[in-house]
Amino acid sequence: MLDEPGRPLRQAEVPDPEPQPGQVLLRVRACGVCRTDLHVLDGELPEPKLPLILGHQIVGIAEDGRRLGVPWLGWTDGTCRYCTTGRENLCDRALFTGYQLDGGYAELAVADERYCLPIPEEYGDEEAAPLLCAGLIGYRSLRLAGDADRLGLYGFGASAHIVAQVARHQGRRVFAFTKPGDAAGQAFARGLGAEWAGGSDERPPDELDAAILFAPVGELVPIALGTVAKGGTVVCAGIHMSDVPSFPYELLWGERQVRSVANLTRADGEEFLALAPRVPVRTRIEVFPLAQANEALDRLREGRIEGAAVLIP
Ligand SMILES: [Zn+2]
Ligand SMILES: [Zn+2]
Repeated sequence: MLDEPGRPLRQAEVPDPEPQPGQVLLRVRACGVCRTDLHVLDGELPEPKLPLILGHQIVGIAEDGRRLGVPWLGWTDGTCRYCTTGRENLCDRALFTGYQLDGGYAELAVADERYCLPIPEEYGDEEAAPLLCAGLIGYRSLRLAGDADRLGLYGFGASAHIVAQVARHQGRRVFAFTKPGDAAGQAFARGLGAEWAGGSDERPPDELDAAILFAPVGELVPIALGTVAKGGTVVCAGIHMSDVPSFPYELLWGERQVRSVANLTRADGEEFLALAPRVPVRTRIEVFPLAQANEALDRLREGRIEGAAVLIP
């Protein structure tokens, strides 16, 4: 339970959530830990529900026995100009799981059934959890990177380790950038098919057609622009980033683009969860008991998680 941003989570006994019409009650089997959880915890995202149960990569069992996933997109109005044009990820009144709605760092959770996703049977509960945000947002970012052949991934954590596998499956070439000196992270990336891995302060051996920034570091935007070829795209995948420093127009010239990725649509979820077992995406996870949620978040903050952290109630 988050009482106030800036404070550690507190273990709490709360009344069982009661499903409203259209909602399902889920017994949580696993919940992934996402960098967005850190941004909420640190007060970098405005006006969270308080007190709040974090967590938006929930794998749970409904009362009728179905295994469902609850992603970040928890509710939309269905009527605004974005919802009615296939862009529910941009809905003005959207509500997000583990931010404005209680999430999955809990034994029980409720969710609007229309936004739940069936979990592919090929995956165990823990392995499936990171697919629900790291995988989904990563997949949307990859789609927005267009048909880039030479793909750079800045920040090789939960999302990038999944995107690398999908990108390789699609026949793309992957170049991974970690924190300078993170030899273990670079070896991890090469093990997942990256043909080159180095520090974010290094230049890749070849120009890139697109780069996806998973690290929430604005300074990387001009650096990444400097690595992409004419017509290339830099996709910022995070919900929060430190300020982007000013940079010479020359870096953007040549029809290069910088764009963000915001949230996800249910169509992204269905598409990605159908694709993941065909790749097949294998998630590298580190499992923590729910009571160690603070430790999992600290480890993520320090960059000491290889792949994705998952909480088990
Ligand atoms: Zn997330
Ligand atoms: Zn809407």
